[in-house]
Amino acid sequence: MTVGRYAPSPSGRMHLGNLCCCLLAWLSAKSKGGKVVLRIEDLDAMRCPRRFADLLEADLAWLGLAADEGGSAGGPDGPYYQSERADIYGYYYGKLAEMGLVYPCFCTRSQLHAASAPHRSDGQVVYPGTCRGLTPEQVAEKSRVRPPAWRVRVPDETIRFVDGHLGPYAENLARDCGDFVVRRADGGFAYQLAVVVDDALMGVTQVVRGADLLSSTPRQLWLYRTLGLKAPEFCHLPLLLAPDGRRLSKRDGDQSLEHLQAKYTPEQVIGRLAYVCGLADTPAPRAAAELVDGFCWDKVPKQDICLPEGLF
Ligand code: GLU
Repeated sequence: MTVGRYAPSPSGRMHLGNLCCCLLAWLSAKSKGGKVVLRIEDLDAMRCPRRFADLLEADLAWLGLAADEGGSAGGPDGPYYQSERADIYGYYYGKLAEMGLVYPCFCTRSQLHAASAPHRSDGQVVYPGTCRGLTPEQVAEKSRVRPPAWRVRVPDETIRFVDGHLGPYAENLARDCGDFVVRRADGGFAYQLAVVVDDALMGVTQVVRGADLLSSTPRQLWLYRTLGLKAPEFCHLPLLLAPDGRRLSKRDGDQSLEHLQAKYTPEQVIGRLAYVCGLADTPAPRAAAELVDGFCWDKVPKQDICLPEGLF
């Protein structure tokens, strides 16, 4: 059975970009007779208070896109809040450590940005390996100054995969990504590790998410393989842009669910979004369930989508 998922980090009210991702994840799973799991990605618990997660569930229900499992309703693979899963991440982190793949890194963000290392497509620095070869004495000395973050040692290997929507993608882990953080200096686990462990343990078979995470996928595929976990299929979506071409963000208050709910019915929101995503010929109101039968990834644009002026 196809198991899709929503994996939001609710640091505010949902906006159209999040919503578009949820609509496509839901349609993609439902069109195959599958189900959708809701996992709240609140690793940064301060930024993602529970009330935003609860609002998000209410918003999804209002839109007719409620998840089948997870979130506050729970389910067989819970807990579904990343803030409650530290023991599980600790277990898999321990496996990486046992394999000798993890090492402490004392570099600060500003040191990394000052380094003349190449930058990734997402603007992050390709880690130049500064702390890869520290001696135990150096580690002990540096630990007295500040606690380290923990990185995994990636091989010089090109990871290739075929994205279910965007097609073939490849990245060389050493050259394009570099050793990456799996545990932060404050002891919390990093997104890249948590997302892999969670999708695998929650039985997710299809990940639908924004194209901003396409370049994280090779790292994640390598983690799946290294940890002996089964990887899902990935479908990355073009980003939804404001009419002036800017990326939508939570700062665009008028695109938030709060504003949309005051102005439109759920069917009006879904109908307009379906139109923008190529799933309907007109922006006429539609229930999400009406779109299931005609859903097909081929209809969805592959380039970033600019919202037409005045549509919302
Ligand atoms: N929690 C991430 C976000 O809201 C999404 C992670 C994922 O889909 O893999 O941006």
